[in-house]
Amino acid sequence: MSRASKMYIRFWGVRGSIASPGKETAKYGGDTSCIEVRCGKEIFILDAGSGIRKLGSKILKEKTKHINILFSHFHWDHIQGFPFFAPVFNKNYSITLVGERKMNFTLEQLFTAQLMFPYFPLSLADLDAKISFREVSRNDSIVKNNVKIILARLNHPGGCIGYRIEYGGKSFVYATDTEHYSCIDKSLLKLSLNADVLVYDCNYTDDEYSGKTGPPRTGWGHSTWTHGIKVAKAAKVKKFIIFHHDPSHDDKFIDNLEKQVQKEFKESYAAYEGMEIIL
Ligand SMILES: [Zn+2]
Ligand SMILES: [Zn+2]
Repeated sequence: MSRASKMYIRFWGVRGSIASPGKETAKYGGDTSCIEVRCGKEIFILDAGSGIRKLGSKILKEKTKHINILFSHFHWDHIQGFPFFAPVFNKNYSITLVGERKMNFTLEQLFTAQLMFPYFPLSLADLDAKISFREVSRNDSIVKNNVKIILARLNHPGGCIGYRIEYGGKSFVYATDTEHYSCIDKSLLKLSLNADVLVYDCNYTDDEYSGKTGPPRTGWGHSTWTHGIKVAKAAKVKKFIIFHHDPSHDDKFIDNLEKQVQKEFKESYAAYEGMEIIL
């Protein structure tokens, strides 16, 4: 199979909630959610957390001038890198932002608000790239140059979208910022069915979630690895990726976590900055 027909995935930010730089998080990384997915010449970026800044520098050196950014939702850890993504300051780029509108706010209004006085020195109109907006709803699918993207509703305060990207007969599922129910979430199960890779919100351990350590985190919109592997097993996914690491989980903690998860589901890996997957 030629290289162009493979899907290339690279993780640029794997942390949840807030960036957590420092020597104790250097191995997995402290930047927030951002994953690059390449399907032929198409560039898809899943979320614009702080990790997108470094990805911007890489893209600037390339020929492709069109970029799609798919947003799961608009909590800070998923958007804060957007105005630091270098291609937005280059007029040769066209960037399509994909996401849901929220209540009465259009997608454009949401980003106008992000870059608003007194929160940021520049406004959306000051960006040089041609920015366009594609509003989607959670049952949509997108087809673009042999790439199929399927969306699904996740369970998170204010709503969140999970994405399944299919290309060259392979499938990659991004399901972060979702809280499990007592039974398996049917829409997530459908989205993940037979996927080659499932990236899942493993923000909390069972003890953290239930309140054995610290306050109970039920209703906070995140899940645990134990529920994640239930989905992975039921959906028969090939590879399970532990994602949206809690900012308080240092490298040692995540090393241990990964070992624990692998006992239950062999093909499990904790996401780290720089991690690459080729499908
Ligand atoms: Zn998040
Ligand atoms: Zn969130």
